[in-house]
Parts: sequence; structure tokens; C-alpha cells
Amino acid sequence: MKKIIFATGNQGKMNEIRSILSDPDLELVSMKEAGIELEIVEDGKTFEENAQIKAEAIAAVVSAKEDVVVLADDSGLEVDYLNKEPGIYSARYLGEDTSYEVKNQTILERLKGVPKEQRSARFVCAIAAVFADGETCVTRGTIEGYIGWEAAGENGFGYDPIFYVDEYHCSTAQLPPEVKNVLSHRGKALRAMKEKLAQKWQIKVEL
Ligand code: IMP
Repeated sequence: MKKIIFATGNQGKMNEIRSILSDPDLELVSMKEAGIELEIVEDGKTFEENAQIKAEAIAAVVSAKEDVVVLADDSGLEVDYLNKEPGIYSARYLGEDTSYEVKNQTILERLKGVPKEQRSARFVCAIAAVFADGETCVTRGTIEGYIGWEAAGENGFGYDPIFYVDEYHCSTAQLPPEVKNVLSHRGKALRAMKEKLAQKWQIKVEL
């Protein structure tokens, strides 16, 4: 059995990660379940750099065993009209403790009167892996969409209620989780990572 320690404290993300990475040959534990508590300063300039910083910080306190990998992700929302804000600052936008109701309403407000063609946005996710032998790799996934005119939906988390996908004419908070997982930035980056883990460990996984 191969073990994955995933460096996130976000329960919404962990639920998505669990359903995508689930595999009989992979044991997945969160940082908390692995008994790791660390404050990590995310001072990278890109999603990839931040994911790598987190994975390396956790790997440094995990005893190096051949069948353990530390994964970390960094993700966020890029709104083209706002010069790709909030980007890597998505979690910290308007302050870490500000509710997503307020963050989402603020973005809607900043896009007031902006036509559909200029409301394009995307979720980006980078996932970094640090293996016990020190090897590292990063995968990236994106989902294109637009900022709607109102918040809608109860599923998902964060900016999901204001992020709409053309194909479904609804927000990602209105999509059933299994549909979001197929389309999403995190789903794409995680499946690419699952493939890399399978290559590295020479095992077969369901993708
Ligand atoms: P991170 O934990 O530093 O990666 O911050 C990611 C932040 O980006 C989250 O707290 C959300 O605000 C936002 N975000 C990332 N992925 C999603 C998603 O799938 N739906 C909604 N918001 C997301």
C-alpha cells in the first residue's frame, strides 16, 4: 500500500481530493490525520511555486519511507477583467477571515455593468509532489468559465457560487460534486498527478 500525505487543512478540498484519488492501492491521509501541524508561509509568485513550498515544508518533517509521497496544492481564481485577481491571493483576498459571501459579493460588485465577453475567469490548480528519494514533480489543471451576475448554488466551496461554466449554464456550486470533479482544475491536476504516481511506483491505478 502506498501512502499519500496531502498538505491541506481545507475540508472542502480534502473531500474533492479523496473522491478523485481514491484507489485500492493508495492510502490518503490529510496533514491533520498524519499528526502534522505547520504554519507555512506561501511566498511564491506562482501557483506552482506555492504548491512546491508547501510540499517541501511537509516532506521535511515526514520520515522518508519509500512508499510515502507528500502532495500539496495551490489553487485560486483568476478574473481577467481584474488583471487576474485574486489569483494566488484567492484565500487571502480581503483578508483570510472574510467570509466568501463578502468576497463573492465584492467581485460581483467590481464587475457591475461588465458584459459577458469581459467576464472570463478560470480556476487554476497546481499540485506538487515530493517523494521520499527527494524527487519532485508538479502538475497543473485549469477550468475556464466566467463570473456570473449573482451567487448561486450550495455545493462546493469558496468562489464556486459566482464561477459559471458555459457548457452547463450554471455555477460550479450548482453542479453535482461528481460532475465538478470531472471538469475541475483540481480534478485535472489530480488525475495527472495520479498518473505520475503510478509511473513512479510502477503500479496500476484507475484514472
Ligand atoms: P489555497 O488553499 O491557498 O490553495 O487557496 C485556494 C483558494 O482558492 C480557496 O480558498 C478558494 O478561495 C479558491 N478556490 C480554489 N479552488 C476552488 C474551487 O474549486 N472552488 C471555489 N474556490 C476555489
